[in-house]
Amino acid sequence: MSHAILVDLTACVGCGACRDACQQIHKFPENEEACLGAKCFTTLKTVENEDVGEVYIRQMCRHCQDPACASVCLVGALEKTKDGAVTWDANKCIGCRYCMLACPFDIPKYEWDSLSPKVRKCTMCYQERHITADMAVDKEGYVVNKRGERVTVDGREITAEERDTIVEMTTNYDDKRASACSVACPAEATIFGDRDELLAEARRRIVDNPDDYVPRVYGQKEVGGTSVFYISGVSFESLGFSTKVGDEALPQKTWNVLEKIPDIVVTAGVALGAVYWITNRRDDVKRYEDEVKKNRSKKSS
Ligand code: SF4
Ligand code: SF4
Ligand code: SF4
Repeated sequence: MSHAILVDLTACVGCGACRDACQQIHKFPENEEACLGAKCFTTLKTVENEDVGEVYIRQMCRHCQDPACASVCLVGALEKTKDGAVTWDANKCIGCRYCMLACPFDIPKYEWDSLSPKVRKCTMCYQERHITADMAVDKEGYVVNKRGERVTVDGREITAEERDTIVEMTTNYDDKRASACSVACPAEATIFGDRDELLAEARRRIVDNPDDYVPRVYGQKEVGGTSVFYISGVSFESLGFSTKVGDEALPQKTWNVLEKIPDIVVTAGVALGAVYWITNRRDDVKRYEDEVKKNRSKKSS
């Protein structure tokens, strides 16, 4: 099933519960700023509209159907999954920032204050939604998978206590797994579910209440379609949504951008990819050598 998130701007009361839940589940500090950051995957922007007054707009990754960010990632750290989420792999990201350049919605953000900076963004709670309450725990209290390997979320090993918090925060009132922001929303302004069903729900709300909505689902067609939809009572243009992104999927356009980047930068990016590969290869070789040494010492004893 391909999942999506529907944001109904007419229902949002600007309480910030979605943002606070996101901060909490990622163990990020409280943040009420209106701009996204490496430690802030969703924010609320307030726009004053002369017809309807204040409109609160959630900013977050749109989980594009054909994501430009993933198409330029040299090491495959970003991936559009069958689940619908565009995921991010902490172990692969080398912080090259190509994804920042490619994203049409200016979503990925750089860890400027880190000694080993990477680029971060919302993952639609993908890893969190796949943590289950029955996952085993090792002697040190960390959650392990069926192979006995420690499970990580955003590159962080999690304890049994964290597992339970994550499961609670990503289980909705129907007892289904959902993004933490949608579970926290008290106004049904952020809803998580099957992409086709949410698109149908968005259209139903518009058709049933033509006086309350403009006849457009933002995200249905933009950049070839996204997995985050917005519906609104006033025009998206008046709310500052980008109307220049077009309906074409962007990877092709991305390559046009890359063509404009000087060869030296592209070469440097490829070199970084090579460094990443070499480092991984080194780890593989070390693991292999350790294994050989262990087997030898077993035989000799
Ligand atoms: S909105 Fe940007 S970061 Fe998110 S999937 Fe699309 S291209 Fe990638
Ligand atoms: S889907 Fe998860 S990561 Fe994305 S904004 Fe919502 S809570 Fe944050
Ligand atoms: S939790 Fe729901 S109502 Fe509150 S700000 Fe987020 S989307 Fe709006």
